[in-house]
Amino acid sequence: MSEVSGTWDEEADVVVVGYGFAGAATAIAAHDEGADVLLLEKAPEEHKGGNSRVSANIVFWPNDVEKAKTYFRALTGPYTDNISDKMIEVWAEEMHANRAWLERLGMQPIGIGGAEFPEFPGSDCVEMLVNAGQLPGSGRQEFTLRQTPAQLGQMLGGERLWKGVTEPALDARKIRRMYGTAAVHLVESSGAVAGVLADRQGKRIAIKAERAVVLTCGGFENNPTMVRTYVNALPCIYPTGTPYNTGDGVRMAQEVGADLWHMSNIAGPELFFKAPELPVARWINLPHAGSYIFVAADGKRFIAEGDQCMGTDRHGKLNYHGMWMQQTAPMPVHLIFDESFRASGCIGDSFCCWDVVHGNRYNWSDDNLREVERGWIKRATSIRDLAALIGLPPDVLEATVTRYNTFVAQGADADFGRNPAWIAAIETPPFYAMELTPSFVNTQGGPRRNENAQVIGLDGRPVPRLYSAGELGSIYAYNYNAGGNIGECFAFGRIAGRNAAREKPLELAG
Ligand SMILES: Cc1cc2nc3c(=O)[nH]c(=O)nc-3n(C[C@H](O)[C@H](O)[C@H](O)COP(=O)(O)OP(=O)(O)OC[C@H]3O[C@@H](n4cnc5c(N)ncnc54)[C@H](O)[C@@H]3O)c2cc1C
Repeated sequence: MSEVSGTWDEEADVVVVGYGFAGAATAIAAHDEGADVLLLEKAPEEHKGGNSRVSANIVFWPNDVEKAKTYFRALTGPYTDNISDKMIEVWAEEMHANRAWLERLGMQPIGIGGAEFPEFPGSDCVEMLVNAGQLPGSGRQEFTLRQTPAQLGQMLGGERLWKGVTEPALDARKIRRMYGTAAVHLVESSGAVAGVLADRQGKRIAIKAERAVVLTCGGFENNPTMVRTYVNALPCIYPTGTPYNTGDGVRMAQEVGADLWHMSNIAGPELFFKAPELPVARWINLPHAGSYIFVAADGKRFIAEGDQCMGTDRHGKLNYHGMWMQQTAPMPVHLIFDESFRASGCIGDSFCCWDVVHGNRYNWSDDNLREVERGWIKRATSIRDLAALIGLPPDVLEATVTRYNTFVAQGADADFGRNPAWIAAIETPPFYAMELTPSFVNTQGGPRRNENAQVIGLDGRPVPRLYSAGELGSIYAYNYNAGGNIGECFAFGRIAGRNAAREKPLELAG
């Protein structure tokens, strides 16, 4: 931590670092509590919004607090000791309060489905909400991760919550935002956090926080060294969200002695597409059914293809002999398919992710032929030639496809149990291969926080005047329910904002 020296360039009661949903909720709550708020955002204005803005914009809302406590406890699985009863209680209460709070801000919530772990106790409390703002029709719409990309796209993404609710709420309150301003270090005075040092257009500036600093600057998805250090067996995994989340909050919190938690937990992996031209992986929505398989570097299948590009719709957790375990993914993986699948429709469609909102906004062709011409998809007249083209053993790939086709003829995938309704023979030439990459939406780890959203030090005590919210040090210790990160951004963002605003003004030394 840096000591105060010289003069301050900016000041506010509450300084919020990072402008996604967690930063937005924190800023709104602190402002409504009477504080003068300054939001710092590392990205330039056109890239504001972090993962939040480019997400599917789904909020998990528990409709019953007691059931939510039970469900949240079940989600923590073997990591249950990490989360105190008090924390579970506050988590459940504030997540439940999200709906009314969002409605006050202008959200028109509609439910689009239920729990990701319906077999867990308390799961019937789960509602997933989207902002009906620009949606066709009204009322409850059924949602499953097995819908077609087009159906999903009609309901999700589109920055519905960001543009329709939170950003207008900050505008209405005239909350100050400084873009292109990356917090680098926390500043200390008399053992408490008193501000931040930030880099702004090549200049180091000092920003005083009269009451508190709140870190809401996201995870470490774009810091490959941190990913390799903390996340097991996924050495080359690409994010689909903002490139600006590089673990700065973890490092700043560590500098002031924060304890860390949930560093190995991620939402993923899934198999998406990373073109060299694109800054991050592109979320693609393969149809669940079709004449395609995934194969690893040995030319063999490794999973039941279908759900969410990976064979699981549990955000990267697989049930292994009765226990939910973190899934890994081999590299490279190739999607192998035939002409009928190629011609059946767009396979690179996407309704959210960084590339859709800010990136190249690549417009995937309806028949996938433009991508063949670009070299993203390889084509050959036989499976053996295709194998040679992508560097896989031809005998093995041919045997893999033959075996899979036998299962299709028999109506049951004896190796991986892929849904019988989704299997179709790979038999119509030419044949195609597209390399997929393990990808994830976000990390969950960061500084440990308590029920007041205070950052906790290695000594088990709160670091004075330092708070956090959002995916930086998320409460998700293990299993994760869709919509949960955004729900948590709002829940703990409000707690952080309220408590930060209520801190006594700092008597600065010097
Ligand atoms: C494609 C995709 C789809 C998703 N869909 C959903 C969904 O539907 N529902 C759900 O619950 N979750 C979803 N998630 C996850 C969810 O979006 C995120 O976990 C959540 O939005 C994180 O919010 P946040 O405010 O904590 O961080 P972010 O929204 O990532 O914001 C962090 C901000 O901090 C800024 N920052 C970083 N370092 C600094 C620094 N040093 N100084 C200043 N600013 C800094 C970043 O530029 C960024 O703008 C999805 C994620 C992705 C990528």
